[in-house]
Amino acid sequence: MSLQKLCKHLPEAFLVKPGKRAHLSKRNPSDTCGLKDKDVAGADKLQDHNVDRLCSLQQRLYADARFGILIILQGIDASGKDGTTRHLFTGVNPQGVRVHSFKVPTPEEASHDYLWRIHADCPQRGEIVVFNRSHYEDILVPRVHDLVPKKTWQARYRQINQFERHLVENDTVIIKLFLHISKEEQRVRLQERISDPAKNWKMNLKDLDERKHWADYTAAYEDILTECSTDEAPWHVIPADHKWFRNLVVSQIVADRLDALDLKYPKPTFDPKKVRVV
Ligand code: AMP
Ligand code: MG
Repeated sequence: MSLQKLCKHLPEAFLVKPGKRAHLSKRNPSDTCGLKDKDVAGADKLQDHNVDRLCSLQQRLYADARFGILIILQGIDASGKDGTTRHLFTGVNPQGVRVHSFKVPTPEEASHDYLWRIHADCPQRGEIVVFNRSHYEDILVPRVHDLVPKKTWQARYRQINQFERHLVENDTVIIKLFLHISKEEQRVRLQERISDPAKNWKMNLKDLDERKHWADYTAAYEDILTECSTDEAPWHVIPADHKWFRNLVVSQIVADRLDALDLKYPKPTFDPKKVRVV
């Protein structure tokens, strides 16, 4: 199969079918759909092409002003959430894209319901917003660290599905991407953050403690991906050990999704044949 043909299959290939288990353990984080080192240059070219598509789609999205795009990026520490965002939007008009990184809730945020801060940062019509972490942290962290009763975090699958459904019914398009890396790849990336002086700033020693909970996070993600992959807002599991393949898959999913919206420039409110600049 040619690289171009393969690309068309990528969004479907990495979808978690609504109603089916995600089966993370059966998904290979270093999958490249058979592409080898010799294909990397070709894959990079297609990724660049997708980014070009995204540039013009973004312009039409803004002019069309019907839909907001919400891209939710989740993944364990060092899974590549920042790098994915950088590669996806290099060259896209910065006025049309907003990135929001969710941290441990501030006292003010924590004094509201957990979706309060999330809803406030959702996209306006015409805008693309990337969530680097999201409301899914409100299931993950409380579950792994036993911060609230089980029934509290369990109810959040339903609450989140209802919330996302509300957004979708009000013209927000939600694209959910889980960056799937192996434990060994995380070890390599965290070690680089320690060994490479230029990467020291990225190293948070807390990540080493979190790594000890790898199995708990994996189990929590398995349930999130299963419970919250819906027809309105399905999850994709992106094999993310190879950054070049991750970038190709993500750019294909996002560009194809925007393409499918059939975005149009609005009709002029005047007759261009009759109006003249004098
Ligand atoms: P980073 O993405 O490396 O800047 O780290 C952000 C940290 O904030 C991670 O450890 C997240 O787990 C944590 N975080 C984000 N959202 C929440 C949340 N809702 N509850 C608890 N911790 C969170
Ligand atoms: Mg981190």
